[in-house]
Amino acid sequence: MTEKLTGKQRMAIDRVKMPEQAPAVRAENFEEVNLGLGEDAAVEEAKRCLMCKDQPCIQGCPVGVKIPEFLEKVAEADFAGAAEILRADNALPAIAGRVCPQEVQCEVVCIRGKKGDPVAIGWLERFVADWADEHPAPPTSEAKPTGKRPAGDVPGGRVAVVGSGPGGLTAARELARVGHEVTIFEALHATGGVLRYGIPEFRLPKHIIDREVANLEAMGVKIECNVVVGRTVTVAQLMDQFDACFVANGAGLPVFLGVPGENLIGVYSANEYLTRVNLMGAYKPASATPILRGAAAVVFGGGNTAMDSVRTAKRLGAERAILAYRRSRKEMPARTEEIHHGEQEGIEFILLANPLEILGDDRGWVRGVRMQRMRLGEPDDSGRRRPVPIEGSEFELPADIAVVAIGTRANPLLTSTCPDLKLNKWGNIEVDENRMNSIPGLFAGGDIVRGGATVILAMGDGKTAAASIDRYIRSKS
Ligand SMILES: Cc1cc2nc3c(=O)[nH]c(=O)nc-3n(C[C@H](O)[C@H](O)[C@H](O)COP(=O)(O)OP(=O)(O)OC[C@H]3O[C@@H](n4cnc5c(N)ncnc54)[C@H](O)[C@@H]3O)c2cc1C
Ligand code: SF4
Repeated sequence: MTEKLTGKQRMAIDRVKMPEQAPAVRAENFEEVNLGLGEDAAVEEAKRCLMCKDQPCIQGCPVGVKIPEFLEKVAEADFAGAAEILRADNALPAIAGRVCPQEVQCEVVCIRGKKGDPVAIGWLERFVADWADEHPAPPTSEAKPTGKRPAGDVPGGRVAVVGSGPGGLTAARELARVGHEVTIFEALHATGGVLRYGIPEFRLPKHIIDREVANLEAMGVKIECNVVVGRTVTVAQLMDQFDACFVANGAGLPVFLGVPGENLIGVYSANEYLTRVNLMGAYKPASATPILRGAAAVVFGGGNTAMDSVRTAKRLGAERAILAYRRSRKEMPARTEEIHHGEQEGIEFILLANPLEILGDDRGWVRGVRMQRMRLGEPDDSGRRRPVPIEGSEFELPADIAVVAIGTRANPLLTSTCPDLKLNKWGNIEVDENRMNSIPGLFAGGDIVRGGATVILAMGDGKTAAASIDRYIRSKS
């Protein structure tokens, strides 16, 4: 047990810095940018926590991690104890610690942030998860096969999970923990959803997803890849074969600009561009997947997907990697850390500018973009100020690759084959507070319900749905 610090002593400690690859070096490789905290730095950072009585940080966490409790263990250098607390509420802490927008969740409400920097909760989450993975404990009760429930309890059910993104993986883990037999059906040949095909290796190394999936398989969860629900098998067939179904198939259908020139050679949706690189390994010299490596790449959009695409273009060798966004930097939805890293890496930002036309040469290849300057008007429905075109401000931007990263929506492939499924006007599945749809026993969560959202919200839905499915199966027994 270490000596307890006073509030004053805690307040005197400055936030640690995250070690990272130098910008010029990392802009030419796909290795992880952030290198992670060491043990001493983690202990020091955890000591900054004031152990507030009302624990606002927990309210800020969509999966309700008991933050002060795990931080206290870190401050005592009891990393195994910290991991146990963290894992109890967060199925994928090594992932959440890397990609969660903590700055607008737990850290934005951290009391330490009122006078200076909040506690680096995300970095500590990542540290603890990585430490635990590097120091595996002997097999625990969690690794027992599924289907075993305490004597006298109702028997576990059989649950189908559609999609192996963070929503599906979390639901599968929570269901397996309480003794249900779970099968995940995944359309692609690999698991992880956006974590694998969208978020690049330099932010989220793929071996971390492999590790989490291996943990799930050790718990008895079955995973069937290359199964497109809605084609290979229908939702109705799954509902016949299983006691309940959790649909977490994401919102992976790209939205396009709708401007002339979008069919030119060299125009990609961000979805295709990132999938070629991340899932198919196009960045590796030995990969057979082709990808254009332009001298000037322009990416349209201001979210995480746009930032990931433009930073990928830079790493693929673009001399000019440009992000064009129609609002100002303040309105960019991308994580602050990613914007900052992009700036350090030499990404050019053309803000308050919108594409009017993608221009081609006489062979049908992209040669540039006709852009228009914008100004900010009144706030729109999203609360952000609306971009308004400035007459006569058009200009040409030379480029040989254009990547459209302005959002995605629900893919109707699954939902269109299930006519009883209640959808909203955007094609997202409607659910109640238990994440159940109008079809009894059919639950849904993540991006297919919310539209493009976040990893932790998908995980939160997976957790809520798993608890509801457990209650549903019990009520039928
Ligand atoms: C490039 C990019 C970067 C992002 N960066 C961040 C970030 O930094 N932080 C953050 O919090 N969020 C980020 N997001 C958003 C986040 O990744 C998503 O909100 C989250 O992955 C949604 O999880 P999900 O489980 O609902 O769906 P997904 O992750 O989309 O997974 C759905 C899975 O279902 C599978 N599937 C689809 N249809 C079928 C079918 N018919 N049958 C079987 N399987 C099917 C898909 O192949 C996929 O594997 C990012 C998104 C993108 C695209
Ligand atoms: S709000 Fe910040 S200082 Fe207070 S308990 Fe949570 S992490 Fe610690």
